[in-house]
Amino acid sequence: MPRPTALAEPHVIVLGSGISGLFVALEARKLGPVLVLTKGSIDECNTRWAQGGIAAAIGPLDAPSLLLEDTIKAGAGLVDEEAARVLCFEGPARVGDLVRYGVAFDSLEGEVALGREAAHSQARILHAGGDRTGAAIETALSAAATDPSITILDHTLATSLITEGGRVVGVRAVNLLDSSAEEYRAPHVVLATGGAGQLFSHTTNPDVATGDGIALAFEAGAEIADIEFYQFHPTALRLAGAPPFLISEAVRGEGATLRNAAGEAFMTRYDELGDLAPRDVVARAIVAEMRGAGADHVSLDCTGIDGVDLQVRFPGIWTFCHDAGIDMRHDPIPVAPAAHYFMGGVRTDLYGRTTLPGLYACGEVACTGVHGANRLASNSLMETVVFGKRVVEEIATPRRGWPAGGEGEPIAPRVGAAPSHEAVQSLMWRAAGIERDGDGMRKGLAIAQSWDGTLDAPTREAHERRQMAILTRLMLTAALRREESWGARYRSDFPETDDQHLKHRQVFRRGE
Ligand SMILES: Cc1cc2nc3c(=O)[nH]c(=O)nc-3n(C[C@H](O)[C@H](O)[C@H](O)COP(=O)(O)OP(=O)(O)OC[C@H]3O[C@@H](n4cnc5c(N)ncnc54)[C@H](O)[C@@H]3O)c2cc1C
Repeated sequence: MPRPTALAEPHVIVLGSGISGLFVALEARKLGPVLVLTKGSIDECNTRWAQGGIAAAIGPLDAPSLLLEDTIKAGAGLVDEEAARVLCFEGPARVGDLVRYGVAFDSLEGEVALGREAAHSQARILHAGGDRTGAAIETALSAAATDPSITILDHTLATSLITEGGRVVGVRAVNLLDSSAEEYRAPHVVLATGGAGQLFSHTTNPDVATGDGIALAFEAGAEIADIEFYQFHPTALRLAGAPPFLISEAVRGEGATLRNAAGEAFMTRYDELGDLAPRDVVARAIVAEMRGAGADHVSLDCTGIDGVDLQVRFPGIWTFCHDAGIDMRHDPIPVAPAAHYFMGGVRTDLYGRTTLPGLYACGEVACTGVHGANRLASNSLMETVVFGKRVVEEIATPRRGWPAGGEGEPIAPRVGAAPSHEAVQSLMWRAAGIERDGDGMRKGLAIAQSWDGTLDAPTREAHERRQMAILTRLMLTAALRREESWGARYRSDFPETDDQHLKHRQVFRRGE
């Protein structure tokens, strides 16, 4: 897309072009010009890689209240029930919006096809293009966003938020095509910058997922919540020489079985739900089995799947495995856990408002509280559009008063860039991975506090090293303080759930 030379003063600036950014842009265009800044090409985002689908209680035997029950159960006691209620009850209407924007969900005999995933009590996962749901959504939304009222500037990295009188009024950015500094102003700025899987050595996330939005919001003074909760997906392909690739839970939903090095189907030893147990349980069980066998992976066995043409149901996974020399109909798929989804993020209320006036957040960058300590599979895509819609409704008809915040503990992590992406990734994988302990985290934090690299060039890489250093320090600080285990955040030195801290959230803001 040619870069426009002049822009109408936008009414809304959106940072990010995944599902949340594009959905907000499409919904907000009726309010005035919308400017979207995105640091890579438009489709470089987590959204594009989503496979399993999007959860909505639309089946004949289903009800939003049942999805709510499953969501609360998966969240290990830390779900914000009010926010989760919004998610579950408004989800079906948002499916209608996505269809209106051109997303063609798969159907079976004239009815929308609903898949089953781990820890869901009902089949309720809508998918598109088999296991290419995210790509289908991203393609449809970016086609819909070719609209004169939406300007998308790709290869444009947001580097800081502009605040005036305690309000966010714009964004500083770098045009990565010529390294020039730019500034954009608007009365409303929406963070839709996605997750931060790149903080870890093994991740399912693409390389844009460096947690920038959380660091930008923190630096500007917004509150950050639940930052210690990161979800590890149990089954990413682990094959020497192959790039990271997710093997969706939906494959286990269809009947695939995890087996250890001895060929034993081990999951029933860990949880009554067996292979469909919550993600944190499956991820830790896999780590225990790998450790026991001295292996770097376990196997996913699809031979027990009956009556499903794997090539048709999972075309993306089938093709990827096939290209890696694996015929999933017969061969075991080597899998191991990888960093996948950020439950924490920029604290928002039910209308996507952060604690800084003028700044909204939705999608993976936001912490609405719906996931608690453990995200239920396929709830994240739905969260992006449910709360994205609410952000736009709020911009259109603002409520009186802005949430004051104030709960956030002031914290001043040292400023300075990490030496490299790899330094962050290996430190975080060791210190803040699937199983954490106090010693490892203290050592990790001491190293991260000593990083004092400066911003040596206006490059994406340099800015990311700075954002990643901020997140590393925040995440380790928060994780060290929780001397208990909850869902995806497990401490091997404090394995028990501590009821005294139940419902206690850690909220930080920048301070001296
Ligand atoms: C492999 C994989 C499979 C998944 N499967 C599912 C699934 O089946 N169901 C489900 O519900 N969820 C799934 N998820 C999670 C889900 O895809 C994400 O949570 C969701 O897509 C996040 O959307 P988003 O719009 O918030 O962020 P993203 O889609 O990640 O978009 C973020 C955007 O922000 C841009 N950006 C970041 N920093 C900056 C900056 N500084 N300046 C400018 N732009 C910036 C990025 O370039 C990108 O365009 C999966 C995730 C992965 C990685």
